[in-house]
Amino acid sequence: MLCELCGRETKNLTKVLVEGTTMDVCEGCVAYGKIITEPIKKNTPVKTAPRRYKEKDIFERMDTALVPNWAERIKNNREKKGLTREQLGAAIGQRTIIISHLENGELHPTDEMARKIEQELDIILLEKIIPAGQTTNTTKGGKRTIGDLLNHETNQP
Ligand SMILES: [Zn+2]
Repeated sequence: MLCELCGRETKNLTKVLVEGTTMDVCEGCVAYGKIITEPIKKNTPVKTAPRRYKEKDIFERMDTALVPNWAERIKNNREKKGLTREQLGAAIGQRTIIISHLENGELHPTDEMARKIEQELDIILLEKIIPAGQTTNTTKGGKRTIGDLLNHETNQP
């Protein structure tokens, strides 16, 4: 077996991560990469730096939507917390009239407003929506994952 990094013949190859790529290297080259402890199996999510980046990317592209009964939730939970509309408004930096409109469902809160209210009242107002076709993300356009590359390699004769 040959070390993929220095090309030397070696008996013991160690899988390491070198700049986002998995490589089988000899003992002398292990220090150049990060040792991957778990053996990589087919279709197993690989915990690597590029993968983490991808997940973050997906997360940022996810849309949020208000829960159906958001107005009710705001009102009920504000009252449960014993807060007046003035107090809630002050807490999230909005005027009392805005809170009234929100609770009547006349005004839709911005994402920012909704998040502040969520924190203030310990409730959920925004739900994450995963866009359709998101699961095919790794195959179209951008780079393939290391898992894809490995699968490809192992499928070859
Ligand atoms: Zn080597």
